[in-house]
Amino acid sequence: MSERTILSEQTIFRNAKLADGSLADFFVTGGRFSAIAPAGKAPPADFAAVAPGTVDPAIIDLDGQLVVPAFVEGHIHLDTSFYGDAWRPHIPCTNGFDVRERVAFQARNLAGAAPMAERAKNQLELCVGNGSLVMRSHVMVDASVGLSHVETILAVREKYRDLIDIQLVAFPQSGILSSPGTAELLDEALKLGCDLVGGLDPASFDRDVNGHLDVVFTLAQKHGAGVDIHLHDGGALGLFQVEEIAARTKALGMAGHVAVSHAYGLGDIPADAVAKAGAMLAAAGVAIMTNAPGNHAFPPVAALRQAGVTVFSGSDNIRDSWWPYGDGDMLNRANMIGYRSGFYEDRELEAAFDVVTRAGASALGLADYGIVVGASADFVAMSAQHVPEAVVAVPKDRTVYRRGRAVAKDGKMG
Ligand SMILES: [Zn+2]
Repeated sequence: MSERTILSEQTIFRNAKLADGSLADFFVTGGRFSAIAPAGKAPPADFAAVAPGTVDPAIIDLDGQLVVPAFVEGHIHLDTSFYGDAWRPHIPCTNGFDVRERVAFQARNLAGAAPMAERAKNQLELCVGNGSLVMRSHVMVDASVGLSHVETILAVREKYRDLIDIQLVAFPQSGILSSPGTAELLDEALKLGCDLVGGLDPASFDRDVNGHLDVVFTLAQKHGAGVDIHLHDGGALGLFQVEEIAARTKALGMAGHVAVSHAYGLGDIPADAVAKAGAMLAAAGVAIMTNAPGNHAFPPVAALRQAGVTVFSGSDNIRDSWWPYGDGDMLNRANMIGYRSGFYEDRELEAAFDVVTRAGASALGLADYGIVVGASADFVAMSAQHVPEAVVAVPKDRTVYRRGRAVAKDGKMG
């Protein structure tokens, strides 16, 4: 299908139920919402005028299904999942959780895995099938794999660019200072096309918070890239690093371009310390990513949102060497966030939903998001009365629309 054909395509979607309960019709031209009107209205005059005399617009009746913006998968690892490949039984660490030992298990598992591009495609289609059309993937960069993962995943991104928008983070899986040559590889990865520079536990892994963050933020400034740091350190040590990241973000004027993934430390400090950290993160414009992991304290979503922090989410690991869980379904992730956060009221369930949609789009800096005129017509139609019910019921009968075209139905690619 040529670009020209797409640009002239027009589709009318009738009877979409919006989050506020109203029924609307969408007019889509060239893959974007050109008008949104109460159900039953005639197309706006300029809708027909965009491509006069070409073809009659297709009409799709959504029949009162709940229609929401496509989900935002804000943290995933496209290069290291075995989803769709042979099952890899989880190997426990020998003496408590140890990142280096897990990286060694990962190297062993990857040596016998299906080609990376194929595994990445499996995972990507899992996510699209469930309704995510924007994704941020961390991609491993270290002395052992060099830039090979980045090169493969960049090619995957290019191949599927019409299906899903992907941001890539150059991720120093083996640390930076403790893995000689990694800073140079991160620099190269950003030159090749990664959008963000990652980091990994500056204190507990590299044992040098300033040294680690110096490399990360210097590279971000050099390339005009964003920052998204894996931070698993808990308690006061975790909080200290969150504060350091916020201070640097503010000093460098990088508000809206920096995220901390996991930030477990925010989950096991007193409420007044959370409020203080939240105010600092909000003022600095640093977003927090949590996947509401099963066996960890995690950042208090409601308290951080209350403080004005952008909290977003992602599947993180799916069937990889770190854990066997994950289903690539961000609606189910909203359910997990709500469940683990003790969210019961409708407004709380709506907050969990916001984490996987609007807040995710904000964290990823998407200007072109939502069911609004001018945005890309990327949306999900599903059987649910409203958003709170969708979060608790997680209906699997969904149709996923990318630029106004159905690309997946009931979890399967079209
Ligand atoms: Zn991760």
